[in-house]
Amino acid sequence: MTKKYEGRAVGIDLGTTYSCVAVWLDENNRVEIIHNEQGNKTTPSFVAFTDNERLIGDAAKNQTASNAENTVFDAKRLIGRKFNDSVVKKDMMLWPFKVVAGDNGKPLIVVKYKGQEKHLCAEEISSMILTKLREIAEKYLDSPVKNVVVTVPAYFCDAQRKATIDAGAIAGVNVIRIINEPTAAALAYGLDKRSNFVGEKNIFVFDLGGGTFDVSILTINDKDFQVKATGGNTHLGGEDFDNRMVKYFVDEFKRKNKVDITRNPRALRRLRTACERAKRVLSFSVVTTVEVDSLFQGIDFFSSITRAKFEEINMDIFEECMETVKNCLTDSKMNKSTVNDVVLVGGSSRIPKVQQLLKEFFNGKDLCMSINPDEAVAYGAAVQAALLSEGFKNVPNLVLRDVTSLSLGKLDFGDIMSVMIPRNSCIPIKMTQSFGTVEDNQTSVLTEVYEGERTKASDNNLLGSFILSNLPPAPRGYIISISFAIDENGILTVTATDKSTGNMNEISINNYKERLAAEEITKLIKEAENFHIEDKKFLKKAEVMNALDYCVYKMRNALNQTKHNSKLPSKDINMINSAITEASNLLDSSQPVEIEVLESHLKDFESMLEHIITGKE
Ligand code: ADP
Ligand code: MG
Repeated sequence: MTKKYEGRAVGIDLGTTYSCVAVWLDENNRVEIIHNEQGNKTTPSFVAFTDNERLIGDAAKNQTASNAENTVFDAKRLIGRKFNDSVVKKDMMLWPFKVVAGDNGKPLIVVKYKGQEKHLCAEEISSMILTKLREIAEKYLDSPVKNVVVTVPAYFCDAQRKATIDAGAIAGVNVIRIINEPTAAALAYGLDKRSNFVGEKNIFVFDLGGGTFDVSILTINDKDFQVKATGGNTHLGGEDFDNRMVKYFVDEFKRKNKVDITRNPRALRRLRTACERAKRVLSFSVVTTVEVDSLFQGIDFFSSITRAKFEEINMDIFEECMETVKNCLTDSKMNKSTVNDVVLVGGSSRIPKVQQLLKEFFNGKDLCMSINPDEAVAYGAAVQAALLSEGFKNVPNLVLRDVTSLSLGKLDFGDIMSVMIPRNSCIPIKMTQSFGTVEDNQTSVLTEVYEGERTKASDNNLLGSFILSNLPPAPRGYIISISFAIDENGILTVTATDKSTGNMNEISINNYKERLAAEEITKLIKEAENFHIEDKKFLKKAEVMNALDYCVYKMRNALNQTKHNSKLPSKDINMINSAITEASNLLDSSQPVEIEVLESHLKDFESMLEHIITGKE
């Protein structure tokens, strides 16, 4: 019989870029993903050293820009490897911190801490992250945590696994089991316990994280998990999508302001942080803004990007991922039709396009995604930890948490459904986003709450609405924060807050969970799929309308400014004024306007605007 350990054990996903800790709570009959002091459920695997202190997690990642050489990340790429390893040699070229060879060819990371040079091995860095995760768990549980289950990639060799156990020992925790990340994800879904299959079951695990992409095929036979094949790319993940977006905006900045920020590491890093945030938002919204105050030479950066554009600039990477999926199946000599379940893992697998391509590849098969992909590994580790601990009665009857059956969102300018809580999100959940007012001196904001999968808000189900009034006079773009929260009982509360004055209003929608029957939900989802093409057309038009509206607004402002320094001849001013009137009429028109007409107006406006700003013909 397996040895049972005393006390509460937690599960830890020690990731390359982000880590996560979870615990099985017998009293609640479920796994709890534990949030850190910042309220985040994943913690950056970053450790930083300064003249005064050592920082771990968010605090370390947040100061990277000002202290790059002493901010260590990617320790997982080094753990259990030798300095001469070709992988280490290649990675070293990309890191801002220094690595040297120590005794027995062990790679050592060089940092300056409290004014002194220190040499640290990867195990030590990992132990610091483990310590942080343990503290997060102890604070939450209000009791000491001694035993942990830690996950590692399926391809980790013995030395890498042993080094991970050592990292635990340095942190003063007892690593009671090392399990494979894909196995943990399959455990999280209880795929070994589903009774609707006999004999062997094949599971495909797709893990797209921050800097690595791993695919694995597992077979489960009774309680036995076996990794049949693995594949992937050790340098492909979320950071590549961030880089693509950074490049896109660097080009835009160059076009608009005639300056290149690529030689300024600080500006680049600040832009990258904003891009990562925008990328996350695009997984549930179709368009988002990117703002960086005083990005370069005092110029504020303010722009937006649509999900469609994001997909376009990353499409080749997405396709490369699918190629890897195909190759892994070929390697395992397995036909995709024999795969029983496809499990999504890793923060980047939240990207809708990735999910769509994967689903298409598996001939429309539903993907396992009711557990958040960046939490599934820690979730499974927590289940394993409880199974190995004494006194947990309820673990085998693992129940999955409730998930939202339809997306919830608000109406955005142009009848766009701006999704706040995507379909299949685990509850309880709270999502907050900032929205700008659409007019100068707007005194109130109407929030209309919808549920459904259609792109056009009015095609979805209106659940309720409310108004936040008494806004102070301000130019368009005045920020209002909107939160959608669903509690354990399925009650949806939507809140609008003006952070600068503290003024707020909210609406509660009771028993939202029970209001739609299962068949109705399936019908709505099907319908949304059928309408996909129509929705795409609508979205494209809405984007052009939004862009034109913004151009008209900017033009009015630019005109006001140039009026004061009277740079423009009055014939130009008259021409621009009539263009503004014409565009405004089109935007307000109750008759449908062809997208081509809008596009041609937008083009004219853009060149006129350039003309005003640069003063060139
Ligand atoms: P690791 O690779 O360290 O295991 P994760 O699986 O947590 O890390 O993945 C981290 C990556 O997931 C980061 O690049 C992060 O930007 C990305 N990510 C997290 N949430 C989202 C989201 N909603 N949409 C797109 N990418 C996301
Ligand atoms: Mg991971």
